Amino acid sequence: MENYELQRLRSLPVESVAERLGLAVLRHRSLCPFHEDHRPSLAFNVAKNNFHCYACGAHGNTIDLAMKLLNLPFLEACRWLADEHNVILTTFKPSETKPPKPFDAKKYEKYFEHPFLNEEARHFLFAERKLDERVVRWCRLNSWHDRNGIPWLQIPYYNREGKLIGVQNRNLETPSNSKAPSNSPLKGEKAGEESLPSGKFEGGLGEVWRESSPRFRFPAASRCRIYDLPVLKMLRPGEDLYITEGSSDCWAMLSAGRKAIAIPSATLFNKKEFKEELQAARILENGNSLHIYPDKDAAGENLHYELLAFANDMGIKLVRHDLPDGCKDFADYWVQQSVHRTPVPS
Ligand SMILES: [Zn+2]
Repeated sequence: MENYELQRLRSLPVESVAERLGLAVLRHRSLCPFHEDHRPSLAFNVAKNNFHCYACGAHGNTIDLAMKLLNLPFLEACRWLADEHNVILTTFKPSETKPPKPFDAKKYEKYFEHPFLNEEARHFLFAERKLDERVVRWCRLNSWHDRNGIPWLQIPYYNREGKLIGVQNRNLETPSNSKAPSNSPLKGEKAGEESLPSGKFEGGLGEVWRESSPRFRFPAASRCRIYDLPVLKMLRPGEDLYITEGSSDCWAMLSAGRKAIAIPSATLFNKKEFKEELQAARILENGNSLHIYPDKDAAGENLHYELLAFANDMGIKLVRHDLPDGCKDFADYWVQQSVHRTPVPS
């Protein structure tokens, strides 16, 4: 496919594409189809012509939107977009399209060799989340400030061999440590993150996220699907493996002295990939069982049922644990329990 044709597809109005895909767009927002969304978290940036979910981090251009929502490979998604919008493409020649740029691990590895935790990161991890310092070191969590003074936690994702395969940046900004002017756009960051939509977002989010500051950002081609895969190598025969939703719950679980990996959410749960990882770790042969504390919401229940079906298929035992009332997830439970714990010596 010709470059100008791709450009044409990328410049189809993102909101019209979303509507063709069945999303109800209102004031540049819609419910996010990539996670269990109860308020419109998916934002459309009309100027940059892209989308970004403030809850699950899903983002991209018109082609990405079609690929993700229709679960189509790149060229098929292009064909769908072209057909839907009466764009006439010369030919489809797969060999002529550029392969996607791989994740640039070399560029990011250096950030995690000697991780540094700034004041905001230390506050978030230790004061708010009550995490064990050993867990934070094991996870090689790093931090940085962008040119607008916004603090970010940098979370590396490794494969089971310990090779860096992706980076997730988590916005640590709260009203109390906000230094940037409230309308500063995010662009051209020093660590080379992909730029995500900035712009005005009305209502809905409230809480701590100001306009123009996304909650998560990912460098190009980051594979942030299963978190903490290296722990699988340390799993002893018969030992329990906890499955959590998201990295925060995973850190809390590790701080509680349990072996844990995290998947982003039920909607982003890739069964095939997950199965491959568990098979590589010889979970079945080693008699390990899976454990879950479902989040206390519909997404948590959904993930539990997805995992249950998955575990049954594989012949692995899945044990469900319930959180006490008043705890929405394990991270929350861990914080609430911290009043009864003596601090871990550092
Ligand atoms: Zn989402």
